Amino acid sequence: MNNKTLMNNLRCIKDFPKKGINFRDVTTLFKDPECLRIMVDELYEIYKDKGITKIVGIESRGFVLASALAIKLGAGVVLCRKPGKLPAETVQESFTKEYGEDTIEIHKDAITSDDVILLHDDLLATGGTMLAAFHLVEKFCPKNIFVNFIIEIKDEGLDGRSIFKKETEITTLITV
Ligand code: 5GP
Repeated sequence: MNNKTLMNNLRCIKDFPKKGINFRDVTTLFKDPECLRIMVDELYEIYKDKGITKIVGIESRGFVLASALAIKLGAGVVLCRKPGKLPAETVQESFTKEYGEDTIEIHKDAITSDDVILLHDDLLATGGTMLAAFHLVEKFCPKNIFVNFIIEIKDEGLDGRSIFKKETEITTLITV
């Protein structure tokens, strides 16, 4: 898709959070009203006929568009968070990252088997975070699970999509 306005407004910060990493900073897309509108409109066009009932936003940059799009789609928002942040009983999933283990969780009563889920995060790199979120949501046995990112990183030899089952419907708004 690669909308020019989005591409032009995406900021890249060198050596953040540590040396050698080019951090794609989506806050520059969130703060710009035109970029925000473009992203929500593009996502709405993709998902308006999919019967999405809940959008699961991944902490924390995934929360922004999850909320905006959910209002437009008439869907609800579910927070996927790091451990210890959600107050009620949760279902968890642990996964291996470059440096050690990580865990994410969702409230146990947040998703039912009647739901059609859109999982959303800001960025696809190795895909490890989203795959864990996918496995976590699968535990709730929803009718279907769609996956979306604002940005897909394909340079630096990354191919995050390849770790998902082939039939997984993954969309992205910007590829770099
Ligand atoms: P992955 O699990 O695909 O390797 O990494 C994606 C996760 O790390 C996402 O939750 C994303 O927010 C975060 N992340 C990794 N690199 C970047 C980056 O360059 N920019 C942003 N905005 N997030 C990143």
